[in-house]
Amino acid sequence: MNPRFDDRSFTVAIVGCGGFIGSHLLDAVLCRTKWRVFGVDLDFYRIQHRLNDERCEFVCADLADPETVARLARFPVVVNLAAICTPSRYMGEAPAVIRSNYDHPAALADACAKSGSWLIHFSTSEVYGRTGADSGVLDEDSTPLVFGPVTASRWSYATAKLLTERYIAGLSGLKWTVVRPFNFVGPYMDYMPGVDGEGIPRVLANFSTALLRGEPLKLVNGGKAKRCFTSVHDAIDFLFALFDAGSGTAQNAGVFSQVFNVGNADNELSIAELAQKMRQIYAEIRGVDIATLPEPQVVAGEEYYGTGYDDSMRRLPGVEKAERLLGFRASTPIDVCLRESLTWFVKHYSV
Ligand code: UDP
Repeated sequence: MNPRFDDRSFTVAIVGCGGFIGSHLLDAVLCRTKWRVFGVDLDFYRIQHRLNDERCEFVCADLADPETVARLARFPVVVNLAAICTPSRYMGEAPAVIRSNYDHPAALADACAKSGSWLIHFSTSEVYGRTGADSGVLDEDSTPLVFGPVTASRWSYATAKLLTERYIAGLSGLKWTVVRPFNFVGPYMDYMPGVDGEGIPRVLANFSTALLRGEPLKLVNGGKAKRCFTSVHDAIDFLFALFDAGSGTAQNAGVFSQVFNVGNADNELSIAELAQKMRQIYAEIRGVDIATLPEPQVVAGEEYYGTGYDDSMRRLPGVEKAERLLGFRASTPIDVCLRESLTWFVKHYSV
């Protein structure tokens, strides 16, 4: 272990500490280090068990608040996980999505550039844009980033995220690292519509909800798009590899001013294959025959999400850079990811 993980006077700031990734990161920081945490979020229900922890200070705010931004930039490391990342909102609420994913993180980047904090900014694998079915490995430093037309408002999110990456990379004096997550899954991923959130969450939460409600899984445009599903626990291991390298005495130049894909290239499935796997796992968890579960249904993308929906047909992460610079490779197999996520979802929402 990096000796700095033993430093009781060190504080990491986490924006979005109550979210899906943030809640796992918070637990990991408190368990694996002696650090303190300054956590910012608007919603704390996933981290109730940490609210009275004496090593934590929590603030209910977002990055639209200049005072919160100024406080965050006083800490040596700031991890920014905050974002509006509900796909159905990319179409109907593009201005809010863009503000949340560009204006707010840009203000945080400005403050970190002034104070000298290391900003670890979470972007998205969606910046690779409208990839075709035959697109190959997506490389951080050589793959062109091509979006659909402005009428395809699905790209509002990715456009804002990419602009933020470019802003961060262009900001003089900022110590930064950008992370592009590839479909992270695990407990606490998104929400159950109508219970603890509205709109259409990402596919894992949608499929889990449909299974629990005995409804058909919806395959958008036939479920031909492919994704590489990545365990949130692997993502946390990546962050620790990054902390380790970035806070080492050598001040490893490899981790600063770099964009990293974080994804599991071995876990690629089409969405139709994902539906089959999840039905099978759900049937096993419930001890029922898969034939008793409704068959998936095909739906048109624009009907399901609204006008302006568009899609990436394949997102295969290049993983060589994280392995070369950090010795990190995501390793949790797809079946383990899905069983853990679905078991958690069933237990959590059956109560
Ligand atoms: N999708 C689907 N049914 C759903 C939700 C999503 O077929 O109920 C598809 C969606 O059209 C996309 C893929 O699943 O092709 C992944 O969608 P998600 O919203 O999880 O995230 P993305 O990787 O597109 O950001």
